[in-house]
Amino acid sequence: MSRAAEALIDLDALKANLERVRLNAPDSRIVAVIKANGYGHGLSRIAHALTQADAFAVASIDEALELRNAGIDHPLLLLEGFFGDDELALVRQFRLSIVVHQEYQLQALEQLSQSTATGGSVDAGVTIPVWLKIDTGMHRLGFRPEQAAAVYVRLRQCPLVAPTITLMTHLANADNRHDDKTADQVELFNQVETAIAAPTELPNSMANSAGILGWPQTHFNDHSTWVRPGIMLYGVSPFIDSSAADHGLKPVMTLRSRLIAVNHCRAGDAVGYGGSWSCPEDMPVGVVAIGYGDGYPRAAAAATPVLINGQRVNLVGRVSMDMITVDLRHCPKAAVGDEVVLWGNGLPVEEVARHAGTIGYELLCGVTGRVRRVTGGKQSVSGKHDYQSKTG
Ligand SMILES: *Cc1c(COP(=O)(O)O)cnc(C)c1O
Repeated sequence: MSRAAEALIDLDALKANLERVRLNAPDSRIVAVIKANGYGHGLSRIAHALTQADAFAVASIDEALELRNAGIDHPLLLLEGFFGDDELALVRQFRLSIVVHQEYQLQALEQLSQSTATGGSVDAGVTIPVWLKIDTGMHRLGFRPEQAAAVYVRLRQCPLVAPTITLMTHLANADNRHDDKTADQVELFNQVETAIAAPTELPNSMANSAGILGWPQTHFNDHSTWVRPGIMLYGVSPFIDSSAADHGLKPVMTLRSRLIAVNHCRAGDAVGYGGSWSCPEDMPVGVVAIGYGDGYPRAAAAATPVLINGQRVNLVGRVSMDMITVDLRHCPKAAVGDEVVLWGNGLPVEEVARHAGTIGYELLCGVTGRVRRVTGGKQSVSGKHDYQSKTG
């Protein structure tokens, strides 16, 4: 038998979570965010399961090309645009949409438009859909609000830019439903739309998962609005103070492995590297085949919950590259070969993340390549035979 660490990917849960997006923002189009290998779930697998989305968003051209090669025909949005002039030819060849957020991108588009107009070698027929990004308070990517109108005019003057420009911004503090900043960002965004004074209202986009679930004013109740769900599609709450179940979301990834040893340790035995944890009494300690080499966080503190045969036990000692150790005092019948769930069905990844001082996003994205991804429909904790094994 091969090493047991695997990530079950529940595609029915994924589709149900997409339905949640539709219920929450019924008048919006959906650009499903599947960057970072579909938040660790597998890029093309996720795209093929989310064909009901109106478009997909990724962070790099490599991801976009991987999707095109996998036969995905949806509009694809590059969230950071292009990084150099050389990528523009690929953007056009593969019909990608781009976020434009910096002057160098604008200049590259202007130059390419010019060389095309003067008989350059580029095919003038293919225009590029542009999402103009305005910084309304995140202070990461985007033009300043006062630059928006001038940038919009310059984009409209580029023959290579498709005539419909989408206006976008990104929320900085929406994960906290008591933070006033989101309302300020909405107001600033509305001011930018007014300042641009386009002849017809521009399509726009503001809401990430937190905006979709917690801030209806970021949906603009308008048929030309796009929402951009990421983490909620994977069944994780975007908020600091709620769980996925509170929002009707179902976990898509269940990271699981098996017990590979059960040791009967004596009081005072120090377990694992550095001996940071010692047995307070004679007790059984289990060894699970999962570690930071699989993406299980090394920062996970003692008492991080782990499920064995559906029952909660505590992590003890340090996380190693390939193994963790768990306290089996409350689970005396646990035996070698038993199933262990690290997060997912029955144990929210948000909870494990809190014990590791991080967020669910990071844990999902961090699952490494050596963990087999197994695709399935109906979720099952025993998971014996109802999953088709499909790697990649
Ligand atoms: C990653 C990302 C999203 C998705 O955010 P979630 O919090 O995962 O919903 C939306 N918009 C942009 C610009 C992003 O970079």
